[in-house]
Parts: sequence; C-alpha cells; structure tokens
Amino acid sequence: MKTRAWVLAIVATTGLGAIAGAAQAPAAPKVIEAEKIRDTLYVLKGGGGNTALFLTARGAVVVDTKLAGWGQPLLDAVRAITDKPVTTVINTHTHYDHTNGQVEFPASVEVVAHENTRRYMEESNPVYALQSGPQPNLFAANGGRGLPTRTFSDTLTLNGGADRIDLHYFGRAHTGGDTYVVFPALGVMHVGDTFPTRDLPIMDRNNGGSGVAFAATLLKAAAIPGVTTIVNGHHATTMTPADVRTYAAFIRDFVAAVQAAKAAGRTVEDVVATWKTPSAYAGYNAPQPARVKANAEVIWSETK
Ligand SMILES: [Zn+2]
Repeated sequence: MKTRAWVLAIVATTGLGAIAGAAQAPAAPKVIEAEKIRDTLYVLKGGGGNTALFLTARGAVVVDTKLAGWGQPLLDAVRAITDKPVTTVINTHTHYDHTNGQVEFPASVEVVAHENTRRYMEESNPVYALQSGPQPNLFAANGGRGLPTRTFSDTLTLNGGADRIDLHYFGRAHTGGDTYVVFPALGVMHVGDTFPTRDLPIMDRNNGGSGVAFAATLLKAAAIPGVTTIVNGHHATTMTPADVRTYAAFIRDFVAAVQAAKAAGRTVEDVVATWKTPSAYAGYNAPQPARVKANAEVIWSETK
C-alpha cells in the first residue's frame, strides 16, 4: 500500500504551443509528476486536475485530461510509464481543466462521461463565478473531437475482474454530472472536484451544481464499500473515505450557516464578512471571500 515510485516527465513544448508562443516569451516546460499508488494505478499531477492512469490488459485508461495544451504532454507522461495504448478516457465532470486536453488524443479513444456532462461539454457554459460570458468551445472547434462517445445515467461498469471500473452518479454537487470512478480491485476511487482539496468547493450552478444537495450526494459516494484510497480533483496526495465524510460535514456546516443567516434576515455580504472556517476542520484553508460569496449566493437561491 505504501509503494510510492515517483516518475518525472518533463516535456518540451512543441507543435501548436510553440507556434502560438513564437512571438512571446518562451513557454514554461509542461511538467507532469506521476505518483504510483498501486501496481496498475498512477496519479498524474500538474496542468489542471489530477489524472488517474489505470493499466488494464487491453490498454491504458485515463481519468481526466487536464487543461488545453496538456493533452500531448499527458500522452507523453503515459508513454513514459507504459507501452499500452490509451483506449479509454473517463471524465469526472465537464470543467475545462479536466477535459480540454483530450482534444489532443487520437480520435479512436473512447470517451466516457455522465450524460449531463456530455451536454455541458457541448454547451461550454462558463464556470459559475469563475468565468463570465460565453466560453470558446474547444470541442466544437475541433469537429467534436474529445466529446464523450459513451454516456450513462446512474451507473456503468467497464471491464471485469482486476480491470473492472465502476462509474457512479449520485446527484448534484460540484456540477450536475459528477462521476465517481471506482477501481474495485484496487480499493481506489477518483472523486474529481466533488472534493478538490481541503477548501470550499465550486458549486457550479451554470453546469448543474448545487450547494444544498452537495453534502448528501458526496456521502453516497463515501458509502461505497471496499474503497480505502481517494484521489481528489486537485489535492497533492491521496486521502481516505473518512476524509470524504469530514469534507461532507464541512460543506453541510457551511450550508447550514448560510441558511441560518438568510433565516435571520441577514445578507450574503454579512456571510462573506463573518464566516470563518470552523476550528473543527483542522488543516482546511482560510476562506477566500469571492468563493464564500459565490457559494452563499447559490445556497441563498436554493433556500426558500
Ligand atoms: Zn471542476
């Protein structure tokens, strides 16, 4: 369980990146750091959300593909670990820092996501309180390349035996299409940005996200039996199901505080000015006012 091999893949920027950056300062090298957490499972970090790499008999499965421009560096990082071809991409949710890299993947790669996530990817909605106005649609600009080719509504199982992957949708949280990706033979689950790190999450109502539903949805994922190791959307190390339950309690407490403020006739601005991370949540980040405001607005609108 404690096997930890670090692989560093430093990839020079080439191709389109070099052309686009020709008149500007040289682009920084794109560094992807690989952590081996099981013999057949790696977490690849850098360039957006955490990617899980799962090695099966048929080929390599990649969960989330990072920012635009990071698809080829990601493929290079995979190649540094295995000769197996990438056969499958799974997306935990729609956001650009988890999906945009896959337009650089071969068109033959199967892309699997929740049915709502496919729709959000087609719509290219701005992330609530992070982006404003219509967003350029990278998938449309690439003739639909990278869009999910296989979708599901509640659960979907891929492969069998040691290669089995279970996909679960439990309802609204970070977005309206969050997928929990479980590797049952390994006891590992990738939870995407439903638990990005020890900080308030984005509650992206432009893409189906919810504040009021968030904690209950996450607790359903935490109850999946046999999971011992959690891969988070952005955290530097793995966590445990107990950490997921603590995070759900943290969100539940935040939602309750916002709802209490509304019931008492106070304002979102009052919440922003007064809410502090409760002392029970040791190691959690101090609140960022913009995130507190955005989430309080979402919860406010969902509370009668
Ligand atoms: Zn996200």
